[in-house]
Amino acid sequence: LDPSADHLSQEELDIERALRPVSFDDFTGQRKVLENLQIFVQAANMRQEALDHTLLHGPPGLGKTTLAHILANELGVGLKVSSGPVLDKPGDLAGLLTNLEERDVLFIDEIHRLSPIVEEYLYSAMEDFKIDIMIESGPNARSVQIHLSPFTLVGATTRSGLLTAPMRARFGINSRLEYYDTELLSTIVERSADILKVPITQEAAIEIAGRSRGTPRICNALLRRIRDFAQIKGNGKIDLEISRYGLQALNVDTYGLDEMDNKILSTIIDKFKGGPVGLNTIATAVSENAETIEEVYEPFLIQQGFLMRTPRGREVTELAYRHLGKIRGSDQPG
Ligand code: ADP
Repeated sequence: LDPSADHLSQEELDIERALRPVSFDDFTGQRKVLENLQIFVQAANMRQEALDHTLLHGPPGLGKTTLAHILANELGVGLKVSSGPVLDKPGDLAGLLTNLEERDVLFIDEIHRLSPIVEEYLYSAMEDFKIDIMIESGPNARSVQIHLSPFTLVGATTRSGLLTAPMRARFGINSRLEYYDTELLSTIVERSADILKVPITQEAAIEIAGRSRGTPRICNALLRRIRDFAQIKGNGKIDLEISRYGLQALNVDTYGLDEMDNKILSTIIDKFKGGPVGLNTIATAVSENAETIEEVYEPFLIQQGFLMRTPRGREVTELAYRHLGKIRGSDQPG
């Protein structure tokens, strides 16, 4: 199960939207981040000012887009949505910016993927709520300055390391989302089941939550698949038995690790005797980009106790050996 939204069908996107919390009170977990945002929103509302530009970073599926929607709701303003790779021409950005009303939220997902030209353009918009646009062409071409309504840019990124320093400096609020623990995720599973009108036992919700890689998008996706098993192979109700049956049929790892997680761990064990081994060496061995490993995979593996970061490199733990059924010190892979 891919925690990014890239591969979702329209129907799945619609379900995801239906499951999306709409207010601070609806949003489970991320207490520290939420408490701060609530204060900043309240203060901005009292002053009737735009909220400071807000950067949300963290792995995919943890609620960045959801929070952007919630911020707009709680500010009582409109929301425009775009993303780094889509906004490839300054003209597109200018169109978006000039259509913003006072205090509106502009959400740019994958903000680390903006082109340098568009990024440059965004700076003056963020700082002074002004942009220079070129009108006419040829000998009559000239630039005119346009004043924008004060707005809030909410930027989301999975890869904060790739954000340029000037970009980062322009965000007054910077929040990092963390993986959810099983208890929080089980609350989310129960809430989603309620919205989908499918009965679920608490044990089943915990079972699904524990195998969701700390990620709400994954627990919701698993819930929908288990609902199918319950409907076809069971009596429509999701209990522990049908969820275990479904999770096994779906080949979901007991700890919720995904293919790349397991590949990283088994590569360190098989090719590098369990480590320590450098990040770039691991990246080459598993054919994945080093920053992605560092920002998307590693934090979860470290948090769950499968991997350690040591001064000499990455090292797998005893738990990783046990999980993959491998024996420490054995030269035979597999
Ligand atoms: P991101 O933008 O970080 O990739 P999203 O905001 O799109 O993640 O969240 C993915 C899905 O997970 C959303 O549809 C939403 O239903 C669910 N979700 C995320 N965070 C929460 C949360 N704290 N409580 C309940 N559901 C959540």
